[in-house]
Amino acid sequence: MIKLVLFDIDGTLVRTGKAGIKAFSQAFADEFGLNHGSEKLKFAGRTDYSLVREFFLQHGVTPTSSHFERFFARYLDHLEQVIVQCDGAIIPGVHTFMKELRALENAPAIGLLTGNVRRGAEIKLRHFSLWQEFQFGGFADDHEERDCIAAIARQRGCDFIGKKLSDDEVLVLGDTPLDVRCARAIGAKVIAVATGGHTREDLALHQPDWAVADLNAISAKDICA
Ligand SMILES: [Mg+2]
Repeated sequence: MIKLVLFDIDGTLVRTGKAGIKAFSQAFADEFGLNHGSEKLKFAGRTDYSLVREFFLQHGVTPTSSHFERFFARYLDHLEQVIVQCDGAIIPGVHTFMKELRALENAPAIGLLTGNVRRGAEIKLRHFSLWQEFQFGGFADDHEERDCIAAIARQRGCDFIGKKLSDDEVLVLGDTPLDVRCARAIGAKVIAVATGGHTREDLALHQPDWAVADLNAISAKDICA
């Protein structure tokens, strides 16, 4: 039985109409005078810190903690503004799936497992009135590697529930092969949803427990029982 469910954000819960990518570009330009190149970064499934580090190294900026701090302060300012105008949406099936999870007799704890920094996750999800659905999570501020964020998210879930969980009691939802990988890194089950940049067939090659077009294709009851 599933007792802990961990959701990715971008491409899984919401689409932000590239608000995050725009805010990244603006922050690199404003704070470091770097006007080009962020469009070449591959964002899906990555963590914010690893993206910034990659961009810094490509452009000869030393990845010091003060450079990261400057970047993220500016990024979050921009994100708050850009998200308001973004052409985004909650992904089909999310509301129903969450509702089904909450309605289960032994409802699992629900948290986040994301490559966003915590405040970035909050800005994105608040915009869609989803932030209050999640009491805990693992974020890019916790670790630069997604597999390690997954371990932290799982631990926070266990702390929240007040009990150690076995591997088959944990479920991860995400939209990229990196989500499948980080779920496996913590021994969890995984649903891959083709609502981000990857097709269902593409995701199925990475052998998640379920690969679906979107969350309307599965029932929380069938998966969690
Ligand atoms: Mg994603």
